[in-house]
Amino acid sequence: MQRAAPQEFDRVLSSMCTQPHPAAREAAERFLATNPGDPATYQAVAALEEDALSYLGEITGLSAPHGYIASGGTEANIQAIRAARNHARDDDPNVVAPESIHFSFQKAADVLDVELRIVPVDSDYRASIGAVREATDDNTILVAGVAGTTEFGRVDPIPELTAIAHDVGALMHVDAAWGGFILPFTDHEWSFAHAPVDSLTIDPHKYGQAVVPAGGLLFRDKEVVDSLAVDTPYLESASQASLTGTRSGAGVASAAAAMRELWPDGYRDVYERQQANADWLYRELRARGYDAVEPELPLVAADLPDSEFASLRDLGWRISRTATGELRIVCMPHVTRESLRAFLSDLDDVRTD
Ligand code: PLP
Repeated sequence: MQRAAPQEFDRVLSSMCTQPHPAAREAAERFLATNPGDPATYQAVAALEEDALSYLGEITGLSAPHGYIASGGTEANIQAIRAARNHARDDDPNVVAPESIHFSFQKAADVLDVELRIVPVDSDYRASIGAVREATDDNTILVAGVAGTTEFGRVDPIPELTAIAHDVGALMHVDAAWGGFILPFTDHEWSFAHAPVDSLTIDPHKYGQAVVPAGGLLFRDKEVVDSLAVDTPYLESASQASLTGTRSGAGVASAAAAMRELWPDGYRDVYERQQANADWLYRELRARGYDAVEPELPLVAADLPDSEFASLRDLGWRISRTATGELRIVCMPHVTRESLRAFLSDLDDVRTD
């Protein structure tokens, strides 16, 4: 049998993942056969998970974070809702979130049998404070905001949403799965440092440049994460708060290695380079007459006729669209100015007007 070729990244403009940093790749290989789900047995990787958590705490402004390295943003979001539900013990719980929320919230609501109240965003694609306030009530267990939305790269008004959540006795969750490693270099108010947020998702396997799978889930209070724990009689370790049982030691070790290598200067360099790429691409698309959305983080969305979108995909560009049909280009660390120039040159060739 032939070996499958590894993923080529040159034309990948749609993914929230990227090539891992060489140090992350090397650490992953060394810890391939370890299971951080059983920390008493796999002590070396358990120590690396502690390192990874304290880096994530530093990045998000929380000095003693509780939590763990999850399989990704989906697991982290499911677990944030599960923790809020277990903590609140409400008979008829609901979660309030803007329509820009990632689809993992639908899975969470389904699995946990919690009502998901989706509210509109404002004209700049951010959660509408009024709509969130209106949707919350005494049964709201969690309000969620996004810091770096999947489709438009927007940051919700996290301090305001946190105040609304706490007014009704709910917890506040921030989904910074994609934005968490670049937001520290912006003026946005998004993290534990800016508001009394209760939990936060931040994924090393996105801008963190760790290998897949490596997600991050952080809690301010130990009591909340403890509400996730179940006893684990057959393991050397006594209990487990994660959703999956056996977990990827490769993901954990690579997350710790990537952050050791890149925080803060390496991540700052990537942010500055990719924000400049996104701003440049936005200007180029506008100059060609496309209706593009001004990027706030390194993600550009623009209206593109179906036929042009299809032709670009036929040329091998890995591109995707928002729910409302805009092309979205995510400037992840592997995306270069050269590849964006090649993309625009192909766009010029396939243009219909
Ligand atoms: N949250 C946000 C904001 C995301 O952009 C994504 C994925 O792109 C997720 C959650 C889900 O992450 P994962 O695919 O790692 O489960």
